[in-house]
Amino acid sequence: MAERQILTVPDYLTVRDLAELMGASPIEVMKQLIANGIMASINQQVDYDTAAIIIEEMGYSARPLREVQEAERQAELEAQRPEWRRELYKDEDEADLVRRPPVIAILGHVDHGKTSLLDAIRLTQVAEGEAGGITQHIGAYQIEHNGQKITFLDTPGHEAFTAMRARGAQGADIAVLVVAADDGVMPTTREAINHAQAAGVPIVVALNKVDKANANPELVKQELSDVGLVPDEWDGDTLVVPVSAKMKMGLEDLLEAILIVSEDTDIVANPNSSAAGVVLEGRTETGRGPIATLLIQNGTLRQGDVIVAGTSYGRIKSLFGDRGKRIQEAGPSDPVSVMGLSEAPEAGDRFEVVKDVKVARHIVEERLAEEEGGGPGVQPAMSLEDFFKSFQKGETKELLLIVKTDVQGSLEPVVNSLEDLENEEVSIRILHSDIGDISENDVNLARASGAIIIGFNVDVDNAAERTAVNDGIDIRLYNIIYKMIEDVQLALQGMLDPVYQDKVIGVAEVRAVFNISKVGRIAGCYIREGIARRNAKATVVRQGNIMAEKLNVTSLKRFEEDVREVRTGFECGVALDRFNNFEEGDLIEFVIQERVN
Ligand code: GDP
Repeated sequence: MAERQILTVPDYLTVRDLAELMGASPIEVMKQLIANGIMASINQQVDYDTAAIIIEEMGYSARPLREVQEAERQAELEAQRPEWRRELYKDEDEADLVRRPPVIAILGHVDHGKTSLLDAIRLTQVAEGEAGGITQHIGAYQIEHNGQKITFLDTPGHEAFTAMRARGAQGADIAVLVVAADDGVMPTTREAINHAQAAGVPIVVALNKVDKANANPELVKQELSDVGLVPDEWDGDTLVVPVSAKMKMGLEDLLEAILIVSEDTDIVANPNSSAAGVVLEGRTETGRGPIATLLIQNGTLRQGDVIVAGTSYGRIKSLFGDRGKRIQEAGPSDPVSVMGLSEAPEAGDRFEVVKDVKVARHIVEERLAEEEGGGPGVQPAMSLEDFFKSFQKGETKELLLIVKTDVQGSLEPVVNSLEDLENEEVSIRILHSDIGDISENDVNLARASGAIIIGFNVDVDNAAERTAVNDGIDIRLYNIIYKMIEDVQLALQGMLDPVYQDKVIGVAEVRAVFNISKVGRIAGCYIREGIARRNAKATVVRQGNIMAEKLNVTSLKRFEEDVREVRTGFECGVALDRFNNFEEGDLIEFVIQERVN
């Protein structure tokens, strides 16, 4: 028997529409209805069940429109689940995933009111008189609006702002872009938009400072439209909410807008899984030891769980909520502080619960060995050479690029010729293109998104260079278009081989030598330039002569604490493998292997 044609049917429809759906005459349909005991005129509505009976009898199959729409909506949500979120829940059964509170990052230009807005929102939750009491900033806080929780990432003001922002958009589900109504869209506003878009995160605009006499909301809305954020009142997709952090106006509307957007975003987790997430802050407090603030992204974390975070691990002795109260457990999207770790982890490290301390120690030992192990000093976040490998593994299908050129006239041809290289299997997305030298913000965007930076006839400024080396970001400089095209083409085919060369990233001067029991001789150093890194190789130079080279750094300490790196102008203690015969005045060069080509 031939397959029956399946017709999609709404909850209610008129007899006329039902007939049209089957390509039959209304009279015929009415006859069938009468045969089933239903007297209906041509314009009368019938319900789905009735329609389905007639459809079956007339030789077709029926399926509810509602189901089709729901399936489409689910598929749409799936598709817009950004890479990091997909990765996080890849081992979960779809059926176990339930909604969790949205995590919000506040982005925007300096002085547009991010901190004021975060404080104002936080205060909406605090009872009168209690206001001064709650001042603890742990990297995130949670509020409740209309019975629904919302978590805000609360970037501490002293943090290197751009670096945090790069991370901020990454753990967040929604970005609130603060734009001052008296100042409008500024360079950092545009960068923030790029960050959010690169992270696949929807944007809600908080149009702040509307209380000011010189506020010009309409003009700012125009500017927002010009950068692709068309306000909903102009039939666009972006919710733009006028607020005043200072006067505490519009805050409820903003929270409402956040909840509306979160409804349409795939924000889910499995609370019954073992906990995993990201470190928001790590610090060591005298008397309390290492304390880490964690954002739980999946599962439930409980006192007594053993976690690994970067190279720190331990059994959780106690958990504290965002208001400093002791709690027993915390679920998806909750920020918590925990005590009981071996050392303070670094912000941005991922954490996960493991079976027991033995397993945890094993994982950490492996990670440390990896850090110290041979090969290139820095593993690039994503490099042109690596792209093919990760493509083959099915990890990515898209080559993300940030393009900087010297003049407007070269920008378009460079962007076009790069976009032309995409083929059926691999797409090329230019996340950001602009004229000017490669800046630290470009590098941060690359880090946050896994993009590669391509510069044409431009330089890399010092801060960008430093950050790129530190984070292993691939920057490619060209001054001939065809060479650039050739490289990208080869990379797409997996035929671009890396070439390494040594690069000195920092120089330390030995100012004192200490004998420390168990550890041996330690060089008390001052970093003269660059960065001393624990996973670099060291060369010891005495009066211009190389005393030893390619040495592992066995210890790098600031005061008592082990650190991964120390920057120019700071003092530190250094111990090296196979060399301890330090003398005052020796120079220790820190060398990494850097990719060229
Ligand atoms: P951030 O750099 O984005 O964190 O901005 P801040 O929150 O530090 O705010 C910068 C300045 O703008 C401060 O002097 C605030 O008092 C002021 N400010 C913030 N929000 C408002 C507002 O809604 N209205 C007015 N008039 N001033 C505001």
